[in-house]
Amino acid sequence: MAKIKSVYSREILDSRGNPTIETTIWTDNNHGSVASIPSGASTGKLEAVELRDGDQQRFNGLGVLKAVANVNQIIAKYIIGQDPTNQNNIDQILLNLDGTENKSKLGANAILSVSQACFELGAACEDKPTFEYTVEKYGLTIPTALHLPTPIFNLINGGKHGAGNLEFQEFHIIPSSQKQFSEALEIGSELYHNLKNILIEKKAIHSVGDEGGFAPNLFSNTDAIELLVETVESSRYKLNQDVFIGLDIAASELLKNGKYKISDVKDNLSGEQFRDFLIDLNRKYSLISIEDPFDQEDWKDWIDLTANIGKQLMIVGDDLLVTNKKRLAEAIEKGACNAILIKPNQIGTISETASVIKLAKKNNFSIIVSHRSGDTDEDFLADFAVGVGADFVKFGAPGRGERIAKYNRLSFIQEYLASKNG
Ligand code: PEP
Ligand code: MG
Repeated sequence: MAKIKSVYSREILDSRGNPTIETTIWTDNNHGSVASIPSGASTGKLEAVELRDGDQQRFNGLGVLKAVANVNQIIAKYIIGQDPTNQNNIDQILLNLDGTENKSKLGANAILSVSQACFELGAACEDKPTFEYTVEKYGLTIPTALHLPTPIFNLINGGKHGAGNLEFQEFHIIPSSQKQFSEALEIGSELYHNLKNILIEKKAIHSVGDEGGFAPNLFSNTDAIELLVETVESSRYKLNQDVFIGLDIAASELLKNGKYKISDVKDNLSGEQFRDFLIDLNRKYSLISIEDPFDQEDWKDWIDLTANIGKQLMIVGDDLLVTNKKRLAEAIEKGACNAILIKPNQIGTISETASVIKLAKKNNFSIIVSHRSGDTDEDFLADFAVGVGADFVKFGAPGRGERIAKYNRLSFIQEYLASKNG
């Protein structure tokens, strides 16, 4: 059995140019792995704590040297000597060392960097690609080249992710799940470039936001959806057959004094009025998914919307569920949504993330494995998504290196599986 020989963390920069943590772990038989951790902008209130230094003299307070020191000076000595293939043991050591409900002592960024690096090291020690190792560890699926997660492409960035004036955070193009991954990627890339040309023709801004989608100034969120419709209609694909439209409203960011404020309508909307607005949008565009349609505390409207249109599309909990088993159990009991966004850094260990997915699957929730708006060139999530049998991956637009790294890894996995199965 290989044993962990060294654990070393350092501060690197993420795709927004902000500091984040990277941890490297080696075994005594010379296997190594490196894990870096992403960072959200529109974070859920109940996410595990991302430890930042708060020292205004460095990186405007965003440094992560405390998290780095927590790994190097506290965590490392407990992890050295352990078996990297015993993930439950590694994660339990991390949970015990932290001892808080929300990982505020050591920081979820510090903890996940070790948990994830150990996981990838386990795969290396067993000489397996990480997705195969994930299958072996959690037994949630048997992947095939024909059934990889369907990509959700975020082609227009609003809210906290774009410099434009759109309130909704993400406007998605989602290829049909009937398509193989390689075809879905081709569709995403073609439509991305079509949309850019349309924006250029309209003399609209076509610079990109945090997740690689365009961040234009438009009159309303509905205009952005119309742009996606125009993009598909001017392509060789058919809307609501080859590709579908989805949204991440990130509504917790919209609520002001108990009302939702959007440029599509003059008056600020109550939860019920906003629900009716969304039901109308769905009627008009046959959406495939709406993520975070309401504030993270607004259970009532979540429940009403799911009762109304939950049979027609995915109602996705991100800020509502924060990859947390207790929140998911509450949502299942209340019937508040029918799909879950999975972001490992919202909870902080790989074992806990896998156990949330297991519960979600058991309750027939759709599973969407997701990047963060501040990300790194990590491709771990592509393997993890395949290995747990996610229905979808949300890795941003097919543009910007940190997004492309994950899509390209999925295309490698598709080829690998195709060659193995004949
Ligand atoms: C999201 O809200 O789904 C998202 C990816 O954004 P962030 O990482 O800013 O939470
Ligand atoms: Mg979201």
